[in-house]
Amino acid sequence: MVKYELNKSFTSKGFSNMSESKDFLRTIVEEDLQSGKYHEIITRFPPEPNGFPHIGHAKSICINFGIARDYKGHCNLRMDDTNPTTEDMKYVEALKDAVTWLGFEWANHVRFASDYFPKIYDYAVQLVKMGKAYVDSLNEEEIREYRGTIKEAGRRSKFAQRCIEENLDLLERMRKGEFKDGEHVLRAKIDMSAANMKMRDPLLYRIRHAHHFRTGDEWCIYPMYDFAHCLSDYIEGVTHSICTLEFENNREIYDWVLDELELKLPRPYQYEFARLGINYTVMSKRKLLELVNGNYVHGWDDPRLPTIAGYKRRGYTPESILNFCDQIGIAKANSMVDVAQLEFCIRDDLNQKVPRVMCVLDPLKVTIENYAGEEVIDASYYPHDVPKVGSRKLPFSREIYIERDDFMENPPQDYYRLTPKQSVRLKHAYILTCKEVVKDANGTITEIKAVYYPDSKSGEDTSGIKTKSAIHWVSVNHAKKAEVRLYERLYSNEAPDGLEDLNPNSLHIIKNAFVEPAVITEKTDVRFQFERQGYFYADPIDYTAELPVFNKIVGLKDSWAKKAEVPEPMPKPEAKKRPIVEGVVAPMGDAEQRLFDQYTKEFGLNHEIANILARDAQLSDFYKETLSFANSPVSLANIVANEVARELKLEAPLKFSAKEIAELVTMIDEETISTKIAKQVFEEMVISGENPTAIVEAKGLTQISDPAKLKPIIDEVITNNPDNVAKYQAGNTNLFGFFVGQVLKRSAGKANPTVVNELVQEKLKHV
Ligand code: ATP
Ligand code: MG
Repeated sequence: MVKYELNKSFTSKGFSNMSESKDFLRTIVEEDLQSGKYHEIITRFPPEPNGFPHIGHAKSICINFGIARDYKGHCNLRMDDTNPTTEDMKYVEALKDAVTWLGFEWANHVRFASDYFPKIYDYAVQLVKMGKAYVDSLNEEEIREYRGTIKEAGRRSKFAQRCIEENLDLLERMRKGEFKDGEHVLRAKIDMSAANMKMRDPLLYRIRHAHHFRTGDEWCIYPMYDFAHCLSDYIEGVTHSICTLEFENNREIYDWVLDELELKLPRPYQYEFARLGINYTVMSKRKLLELVNGNYVHGWDDPRLPTIAGYKRRGYTPESILNFCDQIGIAKANSMVDVAQLEFCIRDDLNQKVPRVMCVLDPLKVTIENYAGEEVIDASYYPHDVPKVGSRKLPFSREIYIERDDFMENPPQDYYRLTPKQSVRLKHAYILTCKEVVKDANGTITEIKAVYYPDSKSGEDTSGIKTKSAIHWVSVNHAKKAEVRLYERLYSNEAPDGLEDLNPNSLHIIKNAFVEPAVITEKTDVRFQFERQGYFYADPIDYTAELPVFNKIVGLKDSWAKKAEVPEPMPKPEAKKRPIVEGVVAPMGDAEQRLFDQYTKEFGLNHEIANILARDAQLSDFYKETLSFANSPVSLANIVANEVARELKLEAPLKFSAKEIAELVTMIDEETISTKIAKQVFEEMVISGENPTAIVEAKGLTQISDPAKLKPIIDEVITNNPDNVAKYQAGNTNLFGFFVGQVLKRSAGKANPTVVNELVQEKLKHV
C-alpha cells in the first residue's frame, strides 16, 4: 500500500480547521492510492494563456498543486494553447509568476498542449482509421442546426458516410492547408441523438489559418478543447484531471476519446469542483481584458483587479490568498463568496506581521505654543499583543500635522477626538489641548494653536489628565511627502455584469499625504500599518525616493477589539455613502433608521456596525436576542455584525445560539478569556457546535490573570534571555515588548496582557 502523509503546512494557521476535514477530491485521491489504481498522483493546472490569472485560478492552483504536494505526487503547469488567435507569451509569463508567487513549483518544465500537436494529430488519424471520426463539410450554421435541441434529436450530416480513405485524404489535405477556414471540420462519430448534446458528434479539429505564438505557421488545423485536453492529460500521465463544474458535460467526451483509443492504463479521470465566485468582482478573463484594453483600469496589475498580479501589486501576501482558498474549501455546488472574507484574510495575516507607523492623509497644522525645539521619541513598532519587537525614532516638534477630521469645532456627542473643549492624546507622545482655531477668509480652518503637557508623555504620564482617544500625527519639519492611493471596490454592484456597474470612485489618489521619516525606505516589498488608516504597501513600480507611493491594501476594523486603544474613527462624509460589508447603499427604511438611531445613540455603537445591523433584519433579530442574555451592547454588536454575519452568509444552519454568543462575550467581559482566545473559541463553536464555556474548560483556555501563575513564566523568560535583559538595562526599552510577547507566547495566548505588562515592568526594575 502506498504511504502518504497530509501536508499540514498547507492548512491555515489555527483560524480555520475546515481543511482538516478532507474535501471530496482528496477523498477520491486517497481511495485511488489505497486501491492501487495509481502509484503516484499527477495533477495539472491547465490555463489557456489568453489573459492574466485571477483569484479563481488561485483556487485551482491551490487545489491542483496542493493535492500533488499533500500526496507526494507532482503537478504540471500546462498551457492549454490550442486557440492561436488569443494567446500570447506575456500571459504565459504571468501564469508562471502567479504559481511561483503562491509558493508552488511545477514539475520540470512548463508544458504546452501545442507541443503535443503532432501526437494529437496521430490520434485523430487513428480514430478515422477506426471509423470513429469523419470529415464533415457542413458550414457552421448547418452544424448547429443539425445538432437538434435538448428536446429533439439531431440529424447526422450526409458527409458522415464518407469512407475511411476519403476521410484520411481530406484530413491530410486540411492539415496541408488546402482548404479555407470553416470549409471542413473533423468530428467524432458518436450519437446524434445523445441526451448529452455534447456527445452529438463533437468537433475534434477545425481549420484556422492563424499564426500561433509558439508553433508559428506550422499548423493550420487546431484540435478542439475536448480532444486536446484529455489527450494532453494522458500524454503527461495525469491521474486526476480536476476542472470546474461547467465541464461536467464534457466528461463523457473525455472518457469516450480515451476509451475508444484503447490507451494503455492507467489513464486519467476528470473530476469537477465549483468555480470560485466573489461578490463585487468579475472573474472572467474576457471581462478583465475588456477593462484593461478599454483603459478602465491601469493594466493587468492594477491593484483594483482580482488578478494575482493586481493583488501582488496592491500588497496582498501569498499567505493571505492561500489561507483564503483554504477557508473557502472545495465544494461541488457553485456559490458566491463574500469579498469581506478575502479582506479578512489579508488583515489577519498583516496584523501579526507589519510595523505600525503614522501617516497623515489630510493634514491640518497644529502649533504647540508651549513647546520649543524638538525631541526624538523611541516608539515601538508593534502593539503589546503582537509578539514582535522593534521601534523607530519618531521626531516630535513644535509644529505637527494631524488629520483634519481629528478636530471638530462643534462635535456631536460621541466625538472622542480633539475639540476646543476636549483634549486628545498624540499617539506615542503627549496630551494636547486646543487653545485657538485659526481660519481663513472662507471660514476654513487653517491651523490649530495648542498647548501640551510636559508630564503627559506616553509611557510616563503623571499628568492625571484623561483623554478619550489617541490620534496619529507627524512632525511638520520631519515629515516626508508621499502619494497614497486608496482603493474601493471596482464595482458598486454586488453581482456586477458589465462596465455600467463600475464604481466611479474606486481609485482615490492623495498627492499630499505626510509620513513620518521611518516609513521612507529603500527596501522593496515593504508593508506598514498606518495607524488608524489601514495597511499599506510601497508600490513596487511607481515608488521613488523623491515621491514615495503607497497602495492601500485593506482597512483596519478589527471587530474583536473590545476596548480599542483608539476608538473607531467617525465615518468620513464620503464613507457614509458606502456601508462596509455590503457595498451598495440604499436609503434606510423608517424601521431601519429607528434601529440605527437606537444603536448609535442609546447603545453607543459606531456607525459602521450600527449600519450593518440595522439594515439586516436577521442580524438585528439575532443581536436583540443576544442582548437579552448579556448587557454588553458594543461587544455583542461587534461579534454579531462580523463573525455571526459571516456564518449566516454561508446559509447553513448555525451551530451556535444567541445565548452562546452572549456567553462568549460575557467571558471576554469578565476577563475569563482574552479576545484572542475568544476567536479560537468561536471558530470551534462554528465547527463543533459546542458550548463556549465547555470549549474553554475542555481546552483549558481560561485566561491567566493570577500573578502567582504568571510569575514563574516571567522568571523563566527573564532567565533565558540574559542578553536582552542587559540590552534593556543599557537603555533599549523597546525590548519591553519582546519580554511581554515571550510571556504571552509561552502561555499559548492565555496570559492576561494587562497583568503581564504590570508584572514584567515590576520584574525588570529588580533584575
Ligand atoms: P475565465 O472564464 O476566467 O476565462 P477559464 O476557465 O477560461 O477562466 P482557464 O485558463 O481555461 O480559464 O482555466 C485554467 C484553470 O483554472 C481551469 O482548470 C479552470 O477550471 C480554473 N478556473 C478558472 N476560473 C476559475 C474559478 N473562478 N474558480 C476556480 N477555478 C477556476
Ligand atoms: Mg477558458
